[in-house]
Amino acid sequence: MDSSEYERKIASRFAAFDQDGNGYIDRQDFSGAAAAILSEFSVTARCGKGQDLYSGAEAFWQGMAGIADVDGDQRVTRQEFITGAVKRLRDNPQRFAEIARPFLHAVIAIADEDGQGMTVPAVERVLRVLGVSPGGAAAVASGLDSDGDGRISEEQALAGFAAYYVTPEQP
Ligand code: CA
Ligand code: CA
Repeated sequence: MDSSEYERKIASRFAAFDQDGNGYIDRQDFSGAAAAILSEFSVTARCGKGQDLYSGAEAFWQGMAGIADVDGDQRVTRQEFITGAVKRLRDNPQRFAEIARPFLHAVIAIADEDGQGMTVPAVERVLRVLGVSPGGAAAVASGLDSDGDGRISEEQALAGFAAYYVTPEQP
């Protein structure tokens, strides 16, 4: 991959976290994502699943800030994202799993509507709500179902999530 391709992929990952598009990643992006997912699946913020999602989003933000917010201003700039998050998480994917898991676990509790594991269409809905293009969401969702049983387990979701958001070398 040449450097411009690398830069383009980093930019798209940054944009995926910068949900409100104001040029930096902060707590609002995570709480906004939680609110959008609750709205999509008609779950209230007050119920147990809603509260788990918000606390998972807060933990995800705290983990991201701990890794990448070098100057401690509660904002992760693009430069901080590149030097902090991308490099460190690429070197230690397990760390990403640790900080993302509570959020993802809460998303799954909401999107897995029959308790049998998330379906491919449910994952597509989550990805579209988070700003992934419809075509991209469909491709990612079906790709996550690596064993082709039509369901996506928490481990499959976490692996795919880490690959998409953190590892720019992978499509
Ligand atoms: Ca933002
Ligand atoms: Ca900062």
